[in-house]
Amino acid sequence: MSLKVPLGFDKTNNTYVSPLNATKIDSYQCPSCEGDLTFRAGDINVKHFAHKKDTDCSYDNLIHKLAQLIILENTEILVNDAIVKYTNPRLEVTVGNYRCDASIDTDRYPGLMIEVVVTNALTNDKLKALSNLNILEIDLRGYAPIDDFDTLKKLVLYAPETRNLITREREPDEVKKDDLFKIIVGVLILFAGLGARVYYKSRNRKKRRY
Ligand SMILES: [Zn+2]
Repeated sequence: MSLKVPLGFDKTNNTYVSPLNATKIDSYQCPSCEGDLTFRAGDINVKHFAHKKDTDCSYDNLIHKLAQLIILENTEILVNDAIVKYTNPRLEVTVGNYRCDASIDTDRYPGLMIEVVVTNALTNDKLKALSNLNILEIDLRGYAPIDDFDTLKKLVLYAPETRNLITREREPDEVKKDDLFKIIVGVLILFAGLGARVYYKSRNRKKRRY
């Protein structure tokens, strides 16, 4: 089956176009391999782009590239059951001998690495190399082939079932704050306990008197 390309680059207008808004007049380029695309809008086929010539463009590369575009062009993403704002999206971030698909800054996780899994799972060696970083893994393996850009966008940014947050050791500052909170709660519980004992003792004493 030929590779359906969910988004074309319109060279004339310098913009990305969905097959739904494409025309037969304009020419489009593959966002991944930059090869020429043909726009197909038959009666049987859903509107889509396909490569004009035989190409070594792969589904894996194409979806990675589109997922990166999505991360670059948006500002919010689901992390830990909450949609959070992010800034400073960077693509192809080098860590040692490895490259991550992207990294973003959220309030809670500055420098959060994003790894999009299209066909190959993250290797243990890579996980080890990233062992002191927080990683948001977005696993799209169960959804192949994704041939619609809006579906891909939802899967990358919002679907709870595609993501797995791998958090590392917390920052020392955060640990300190957390410990202080525990101490305060502990002291409050202790005082509440003492207070209750004093109260019941005094009630019992009063009862005995009558
Ligand atoms: Zn291509």
